[in-house]
Parts: sequence; structure tokens; C-alpha cells
Amino acid sequence: MSISDEATRNAWADHSRTFSDFRFVYPVISRRAKGLSIGVNCTPNKTCNFNCIYCQVDRESLKIPPKPLSSNTEFLETTANPHKTNPFTVRPCRSVGSDDLLTSSSEPIIDRTSPVDCKFPSVNDIILELRELLSLYHKDKLAEHFYGVPEQNRILKDIALSGDGEPTIYPHFAELCEELLKIQDECPDNPKLTLITNATQISPDNKKVFRGLEFLTAKNGEIWGKLDAGTPEQLLLINGFADLSLIENNLKFAASKFPLKIQTMLCKAKGKIPSEKELQSYAEIVSRIYNGGNFEMGHLLEVQLYSVVRKTADSSVQPLPREFLEHLKEILNDKIPNLPVEIF
Ligand code: SF4
Repeated sequence: MSISDEATRNAWADHSRTFSDFRFVYPVISRRAKGLSIGVNCTPNKTCNFNCIYCQVDRESLKIPPKPLSSNTEFLETTANPHKTNPFTVRPCRSVGSDDLLTSSSEPIIDRTSPVDCKFPSVNDIILELRELLSLYHKDKLAEHFYGVPEQNRILKDIALSGDGEPTIYPHFAELCEELLKIQDECPDNPKLTLITNATQISPDNKKVFRGLEFLTAKNGEIWGKLDAGTPEQLLLINGFADLSLIENNLKFAASKFPLKIQTMLCKAKGKIPSEKELQSYAEIVSRIYNGGNFEMGHLLEVQLYSVVRKTADSSVQPLPREFLEHLKEILNDKIPNLPVEIF
């Protein structure tokens, strides 16, 4: 392996969300973007309505005190709660390491949607930092930061709304996407705009998010939506979220309007690997999303399969071998022959 290959591999492995003293933007060399990706973190307060067992975001450091809650507690009344107008209930999250559905009122629960430390940055602050990082990029393509990585691997491929929480929860999502579209127009490298999302907010009646997605995909943009499960039980175990039909319907809706890629994390968790039945059920869902696409307006472009590569907060989470991912790829290929499936 040459030194530049090794530098690129090291850069792929390093997905640190920090760069210099920037707070809301960070550059990474991304295998999936096939070059430089600038991440935009509009939820540095770590707000998310999933509780993925493999999440690498340290929410414990928010120092939100655990408190006992009953299983049907809702968080719809907090001022910072972005789901107030949404048709579904935001469920309280499990504490890391808990095994079960929220059935026990004595189980400590971490409420990540509470207003504690729940300040969102302004669109202006985010865009200011993004412009600053882009001007550094335009000088030498961040050669010093990505020392040894060849220039062709440092070309800006995308600007990705990602970060420490769920980007569509950001209260100024549409305004931010509008500004990103302007920046995309100014970039000579014509980067793609990408949204990495758990899809919970992409529903027909969430007009604000829909408006944002129109900006995001107006020129060259894609939604990368998470689908990690084929059954509600698996969804609950992996994502800490119970409503699989909501995710399926939202991904179907996304595919009918916008270019969509599905990202699927496969891992061993709590000693359990996805069963054959769960894999088949997952493939059925992907097939329905694919067939629900509208090829004039948008459709499901690809499925990306991957497993864990970095340490997660829950030590029961283990990577699955490549053969497992290959097996799921075969199932998908049999069911949906025209749908590209990539393994990362
Ligand atoms: S959706 Fe993303 S940020 Fe939210 S818990 Fe899952 S991995 Fe973490």
C-alpha cells in the first residue's frame, strides 16, 4: 500500500466531527461520498428522536438527569420540542444498556428531547462557518488537515446535513436548506447536497421539512434515509423507536418526490443478529419503497449496507462479517434486480 493510499484509508476511518474551532461544520474524507464531504451539524445539542444502539454520539455528557417515566409519557409540551405539530408521539428514549421496551415505570429513562441545553444555532451562524471552511478549502483543498491524502481524494463531493442529532428536527430546516442551495450554486466543484436522516419527519403533512427538501434537491441533492430493521421488534432493539410503518410510509413518500438512498446498519446487538425472517421482511419493505417511487420526480436510487466500524456506547454492539452483508445483498438483488446495492 502506498503512503497516499494509507493516508486516505486513515482519513476514511477518522469521522471526527470537529475541525479547528469550528462548531457547526467539519470536513471528512468519505468513502460513500467518494471524496471530501463537509458535514453540517445543525443539532450540536444532540437532539434526536431515535435512540440507536450503535449511536456514537455521547449524550451522557449532556448531563441530563435520568428520571423515571411511564411508558406512555409524551414530550410534546416542551418549548424546544420540534415535534409539537407532528402527528406522531415522540417516545422517550431508552437509557443506554437497557434491554426492554419502555414498560417499566421504574426504569431510568434519558429524556433527550427535554429543553435542557436545547439551544439550536442560528442559520446565519452555521452559514458563516460553512463559508469560512469553504474559503479554506478553496485555498489548497485542506492539504494540511488531510496530510498525505492525494488531491483527487480531497475534491469536495458533497455538503451533508448530518451531525450529532436528527437534522430535520432543526427548527429552521427549510431556511438552512435554502441557504445551502445558494452556496451550492457558488461552488465550482458542484457538490451534491445530502440529507442524512432517520426519516421520521419526512411526512406529507410536514410542510416545513418538505419545503427544505425541495431546496436541497433542487439542483443536485439526495436524501439518505435510515432503514435498519424489517420488523417493529428489530427497529425497537436497533433504533429505540417502535413505529416501523411510519418509517416505511415516510421513505415511500420521500421516494415518490425526491432522489432517495437507503442506508442500513447491520450489527449484532444484545447477543442477537438479524434473523432470516427479519432480513426477508426488510427486503419486502425496500421493495415496496422502490415500487412506490415516482421515476419522474424521484425514486429509490440505491441501498447502502454497512456494519459498525467504531466503538459504540453499548458494548454489546458487534460488527457482522462481510458475508452477512453479501447475503442480504443477494436477497435484495433477487427481489429487486434493478436496484443497486452497495456494501461499505
Ligand atoms: S438517528 Fe443518528 S443521531 Fe439519532 S440516535 Fe440514531 S445514529 Fe444517533
